[in-house]
Amino acid sequence: MPHAELETDQGNSDRENARLRALASTGILDTEPEPIFDAITRLAAQYFRADTVLLGFADESRVWIKSYWGEPVRELPRKGSIFEMVLAQGGPVVVPDLSLRPEIRERDLPLRRLNPASFASVPVCSPDRRILGMLTVFARQPRRTMTLDELRMLESLADMAAEQVELHRLRRHCRCHASRSQRPRKNPPGGWLREPELRRALDQGQFVLYYQPEIDLVTRRIAGLEALIRWVHPERGVIAPMDFIPLAEQSGLILPIGDWGLAEACAQIQRWRAEDPRHGSLRVCVNLSALQFSREGLTDHIGALLRQTGISSRQLGLEMTESSLTPDPDTASEVLGALRRLGVSLLMDDFGTGYSSLHHLHAFPFDILKIDRSFVGRMAQGDQPLQIVRTIIELARVLGMDVVAEGIETREQYALLRKLGCRLGQGFLFAPPLPAERMTELLRLPGRVLPDPAPSELPCD
Ligand code: C2E
Ligand code: MG
Ligand code: MG
Repeated sequence: MPHAELETDQGNSDRENARLRALASTGILDTEPEPIFDAITRLAAQYFRADTVLLGFADESRVWIKSYWGEPVRELPRKGSIFEMVLAQGGPVVVPDLSLRPEIRERDLPLRRLNPASFASVPVCSPDRRILGMLTVFARQPRRTMTLDELRMLESLADMAAEQVELHRLRRHCRCHASRSQRPRKNPPGGWLREPELRRALDQGQFVLYYQPEIDLVTRRIAGLEALIRWVHPERGVIAPMDFIPLAEQSGLILPIGDWGLAEACAQIQRWRAEDPRHGSLRVCVNLSALQFSREGLTDHIGALLRQTGISSRQLGLEMTESSLTPDPDTASEVLGALRRLGVSLLMDDFGTGYSSLHHLHAFPFDILKIDRSFVGRMAQGDQPLQIVRTIIELARVLGMDVVAEGIETREQYALLRKLGCRLGQGFLFAPPLPAERMTELLRLPGRVLPDPAPSELPCD
């Protein structure tokens, strides 16, 4: 064998070993199903009208399917698989008409078993761009080739899966670390996260807002969006808010980060309205932390932002938890009153987890209650959580407030909430938080109506 070829083989096996190490460190293989991964495959199926969608990760010998939509597939041999094509290509593989590529159909098991006419597959990568797996959509019809927008949508769903895989890795890493040190960790991603890192992230524009739809549970129309911050770290990939908001709060950096978030959400509202004036009816809600809320001049700051961006106050919502209002309820009540006079919507977040006091509900002029997802998650499991959800919905009705159920993950929860008369909801069943460009695509759906995640055999009324 010529010398150069030997070196190439060596390079390939080094790369493969590094890839396998990256995969093993995530702890994602042979794990239980998870709603977020199912939401990703379902969203891909809905968006691409695909018959089957597979999200899989490949070790030495097999492609292990973390989530499927359509045809049930759990595991596939790796040899000759679509994954190998994605790996060899180092990027997306799109085959719009398999009848023109018989050699592909012959070698791959799902292609023989699912008998699709076309497929498109994109890699799911680690933060250092190692290909861990792939997201593939299969259709029984040949299709015209994918547009750039469609390919980007598929890639951003794969990125979302990658983000969740990274969270797995971080949590796993935390658990190992915590059991070694026998101490609870305040700062889960590790000791690396310090105030200067956060400050640099802000200066270098590493924060982004994702958006999750709040939908009308009867019409499935997108009624509003919740803005949820993410930190896109140059080496560590996408970092979830729970991993850096606590430090931002302790250090006071939540104030400039929060200002950035408010300004960015308003700018995005403006962009969406410019694209389509009908989006003027869309409300975007921003989370406020306790420190932001208790800061003097909040109302003036928001008033100025609305004037500068020219958006209507009806388009902005502010989410707060009950606990951020309780240290000084009198001042809180005044501030909320002033914000309400400004015309912005006020949402009480995570209702049911704090004091959940009736007195507060009377004293604080909230427009909307958001039922914490822990109740929604347990609702189908027993009478008590179901009763709590029923009571919160009833309470809101009596007080003239609207209700949003958070964290709807299953069709059963969806059906139960509709039966209980809950008007609004958000959750992975409909859509996970998405980057602005991807949300723009969902907003373009006719009437802003999302596809039905509950088939007709599960009656909702
Ligand atoms: P939150 O305001 O209660 O946001 C809802 C959280 O639930 C989000 O997590 C969202 O991704 C997650 N979620 C939505 N649907 C489902 C579902 O069906 N199942 C499950 N298991 N989870 C679902 P995320 O984005 O990680 O945010 C966590 C928290 O971080 C937020 O909770 C909020 O308190 C805080 N946060 C996010 N963005 C900001 C921000 O810009 N400023 C401040 N101060 N806090 C923020
Ligand atoms: Mg919230
Ligand atoms: Mg919440």
